[in-house]
Amino acid sequence: MPVEMIRASDQGVFLSAQGSVVVYEKERLVAIEAVGKAVLVCQTVQSTLVSAETLAKKDKSPVTVADFGAQAVVISELLKAFPGDKVVGEEDASQLRTPEGAAIKDNVVRHVNAVLPNQSDDQILAAIDHGTYSGGARGRHWTLDPIDGTKGFLRGDQYAIALALIENGHVVLGVLGCPNLPVDAAQPEGPRGCLFVAVKNEGAVVRTLDDPMEKPVSVTDITDVSQASFCESVEAGHSSHGHAAEIAARLGVTNPPFRIDSQCKYAAVARGDASIYLRLPTRADYEEKIWDHAAGWMVVTEAGGQVSDIRGEPLDFSLGRTLRDNKGVVVTNGKLHDEVIEAVRTVLHV
Ligand code: AMP
Ligand code: MG
Repeated sequence: MPVEMIRASDQGVFLSAQGSVVVYEKERLVAIEAVGKAVLVCQTVQSTLVSAETLAKKDKSPVTVADFGAQAVVISELLKAFPGDKVVGEEDASQLRTPEGAAIKDNVVRHVNAVLPNQSDDQILAAIDHGTYSGGARGRHWTLDPIDGTKGFLRGDQYAIALALIENGHVVLGVLGCPNLPVDAAQPEGPRGCLFVAVKNEGAVVRTLDDPMEKPVSVTDITDVSQASFCESVEAGHSSHGHAAEIAARLGVTNPPFRIDSQCKYAAVARGDASIYLRLPTRADYEEKIWDHAAGWMVVTEAGGQVSDIRGEPLDFSLGRTLRDNKGVVVTNGKLHDEVIEAVRTVLHV
C-alpha cells in the first residue's frame, strides 16, 4: 500500500499501513490537544484568583471567563479537525453578546488568543455557541464541560475539563484534564496535573500535562467492601452526604469519605485512589447532565470499573443533554458494584 495511512472515512476508523484498524486515533489526538490548551486557559485564570477575596465578594467573573474561554478553545480545536461535528457544551454565548457582558467577553477573547492566536470576537462567540447541540441517539457528537467543578475552581481546588465523544448514543472516547490533581495520590503535596484518556475497548491511561508518556490505569481489586474508600462531592447540594454515610455504615466502610469536586472523582476510582464514588440525589427533579459524566464514565469503565445509576441501571447518554432516565450515579471498581447497589437501594428506598 503506497500511503502510510489510508483514511477509511473522514471520521472514526482508519486503516494503518499494515491494514490493522486504528479506531478514533485522530479524535484521540485532537481531543488531548484541545483539552491541553483549555487547561492552559483555566490555569492562567485560576492563578489570578485571590480566592478568599473573590469568594468574599461573591465575584464569579473569573470562573465565567475561564468557562467560556475553555469552551471556545476546545470547540475551535475540534472544528478545525472535524468541521461537521456537533457539540453538546455546558455554555452558550448569549451573556457575552449583551452590553453588560462586554467586559467579560473582552477578557475571554484575550485569554483565548493567548493559546489560539488570531481569533476574532465573532469566531470565539460562534465557537462557544456551537456547543448548543441537543444531543441524542443519532450520529456522532462531542460533549464538553469546560470547567467541571466550578466551586472547586474558585476555591483553588480540584476541577476538570471533561470532553467525550458519543456515537449513536454511546460514549466511545473520553478525555479528563485534571490540572490540580496530584500525580501521585500518596503525595498530595507533590507535582500536580493529570490527563486521563480512554477509548472504547482500548483501556484507560494517564499522563501528566507536560509529558506525553502514557501509563495504563486500573481500578482497585478490593473485594471486601469494608476495606473500600468512597468519594463524593464537596458540595452537599450535589450529592447527599447523609445518605452516603448511612450507606457506608451499612456496608461496614470505616474509611472517611474522600471529598473532591468534579469528575476528578471518576479519575480517583479509575486509578485506584478510591473504590466507590456515590452521587446521591438531593432533589427528586434534578436531571444529571451528560457533560458531567460522559468522559468520567469512559475513563472509569475502561479502567475496569462499573457505572450505573442508584437503581443499578446503566447511564443512558442517548436522550439529549441530560440523563433524564437515570437518577444519581454509583461508580465502583466493578467487583463491589452489586453489593453497593443493594445498600444504596435499601437506604434510598429505590
Ligand atoms: P461535583 O463537583 O461533583 O459536586 O459536581 C459539579 C456538577 O454538579 C456541576 O457541573 C453541576 O452541573 C452539577 N450539579 C448542580 N446541581 C446539582 C444537583 N442538585 N445535583 C447533582 N449535581 C448537580
Ligand atoms: Mg460540571
